[in-house]
Amino acid sequence: MIQGNYFEDNEDIRLHLEEITDWEEIVNAYEDDFSDAKEYQKSGDEKLAMAPGTVKDAVDYYRTIMESSGEIAGTIVSQASQPMDHEGLKYDSGKVTFPAPMVEAYEAVKDAGIMPYATNRRYGGLGIPLTVQTLLMEMTSRADAAFAIAIGCVNLAETIEKFGTQEMIDKWVPAMSRGEIVGAMALTEPNYGSDLPNVQTRAEQDENGNWKINGTKRFITHACGFDKYPSVILTLARTGKPESGARGLSFFLVEGKDVHVAKIEHKMGLHCSPTCEVVYEDTPAQLIGETGQGLVKYAMEMMNTARLSIAGQSMGIAEAAYQEAKKYAGEREQFGKLIQEIPAVKKMLNRMEREVIAMRALLQEAARTIDNYLWRKERLLHEGMSDRDVRKDETVKSWEKLANFFTPLTKYYISETCNTLAFDALQIHGGSGYTEEYDVARIYRDARITNIYEGTTQLQVVAAIGGIVSGMTPNGNLRAYIEQEMTRFQPSQELLQVKASFEEIVSIYKEVKGDLRDELAFEIVQSAARFMMGLLVERSNSRVNAEAAARRNKLVNAFNLESKAILQGNIIRIQNAIASADSSATREPAAV
Ligand SMILES: Cc1cc2nc3c(=O)[nH]c(=O)nc-3n(C[C@H](O)[C@H](O)[C@H](O)COP(=O)(O)OP(=O)(O)OC[C@H]3O[C@@H](n4cnc5c(N)ncnc54)[C@H](O)[C@@H]3O)c2cc1C
Repeated sequence: MIQGNYFEDNEDIRLHLEEITDWEEIVNAYEDDFSDAKEYQKSGDEKLAMAPGTVKDAVDYYRTIMESSGEIAGTIVSQASQPMDHEGLKYDSGKVTFPAPMVEAYEAVKDAGIMPYATNRRYGGLGIPLTVQTLLMEMTSRADAAFAIAIGCVNLAETIEKFGTQEMIDKWVPAMSRGEIVGAMALTEPNYGSDLPNVQTRAEQDENGNWKINGTKRFITHACGFDKYPSVILTLARTGKPESGARGLSFFLVEGKDVHVAKIEHKMGLHCSPTCEVVYEDTPAQLIGETGQGLVKYAMEMMNTARLSIAGQSMGIAEAAYQEAKKYAGEREQFGKLIQEIPAVKKMLNRMEREVIAMRALLQEAARTIDNYLWRKERLLHEGMSDRDVRKDETVKSWEKLANFFTPLTKYYISETCNTLAFDALQIHGGSGYTEEYDVARIYRDARITNIYEGTTQLQVVAAIGGIVSGMTPNGNLRAYIEQEMTRFQPSQELLQVKASFEEIVSIYKEVKGDLRDELAFEIVQSAARFMMGLLVERSNSRVNAEAAARRNKLVNAFNLESKAILQGNIIRIQNAIASADSSATREPAAV
């Protein structure tokens, strides 16, 4: 892997930090009138010592974290990546052994104090908004996607912080923030993957009122903990009748020492991320929150941040694919010249560059929409406002609606595209790319899971389509958002043409009925993603310095021209599907 500082060597990430992001808006949403800094002034509570007192302080703090994370990702994790992947994990009688370079890299991140990105500073976390968290996830995943998951699992502490009792929070969250306990999320079962409302692992109370769980969970990342650090497993289990569906499911905290890890999967990629089969036999468990709310409330409320995290991982893999391909193409000669000068190779590299920039703009916008509702919502709940009243709060309502559209859209688009970018990166490496000597083979393998876990692409499309249909009505929130954002810059002709095609697609889709709606949902969601990315990269370019804007304008223009072709293609596909459905309907034999 390329060695360097993954923050310093990435102009686009630096532009997001220094010029593109509206920090005034994000920091205000996160810091609540700088209440932690004010409290630190009064109480001197050391846990709040890093709380920023101004927007500028906050951005300086984020920069320091980014520099330090970029350095560790680019000089330690990235260099451990290939040996780790080749050595892999070892399983013996319920115990998993991790390769030494991975353990050393984990300790380096832990010692640097940059591990707990998702927890509150009161419990030892960094206390940073999602807009920064996604950039950290990206840089670590560029270095190694499996390693990034280990750090992500530590940050499952945020779920306990959000829904656990104060006793649970005090016991687990500070230890997780120190990296001494690793979280795992146990939802999937052998017979229920996408179909989570039907999982059947059972939780029952004994005569003393203590909960016990019985059943088997499959594909549970880090249920075995990490090296010497044990796990806590957040487990979805049925407390209602077998046929009680989503409302019969509750959420439990289980200690890793109380389950049996029956095996780890032998996988195509992510060789250093343990995917465990977990057997619960009268396993003691503590209920989190209320019964019946496990899936419909707790898992659902974590959905946007969890999807964003995998989108961040996919973004890092896409960046790694692009950077490794660019490096190889700048060194490899064929026919007496560098392959980067050969038009067919140059075309692939150009596409990778513009996709990476457009995807990052989308990812950061999805993070912005979550930052704009989540922290306010938590604050209002913490102040004692009822769940019902919080949902009526106009700021929470409008940003949450947008986030519910942006996160599945982002997860779908970036995870799918990191696969195509990894495919092209391997192609640029020629035969060498097919060997394990180069990192691109691992990048290609690791990319493949991103559009499957944390909800497959097909489920992301189902989640995003409703936001497009209702959001694009004359008074819809997505339409209002688009109109508002397009006043912030001078849109190009190409973008306006893409917008017109998107409007046409939405209006044709409105008339589609029956199963054809599900069948065509992908084309609608893809068209929305391409239009939104065009809008966001143009808006970004209106904020960066003139020199960077001039360099990037060509990329932005090429991106929108390609979108124009994709959307025109989608219009034809949709019309063909409607015509074919109509003609088969008229061919149906008349009922007798
Ligand atoms: C490496 C790895 C790590 C994982 N980590 C975890 C973890 O930590 N915790 C955890 O709980 N789970 C984890 N999983 C499980 C993962 O989330 C599931 O594999 C995923 O949700 C898909 O479920 P499935 O494999 O059962 O596929 P299925 O649900 O059987 O899907 C098969 C196909 O049918 C499609 N499909 C299914 N239903 C629909 C629908 N309604 N509409 C459209 N298409 C549909 C899917 O898109 C897919 O293409 C992990 C899996 C892997 C491989």
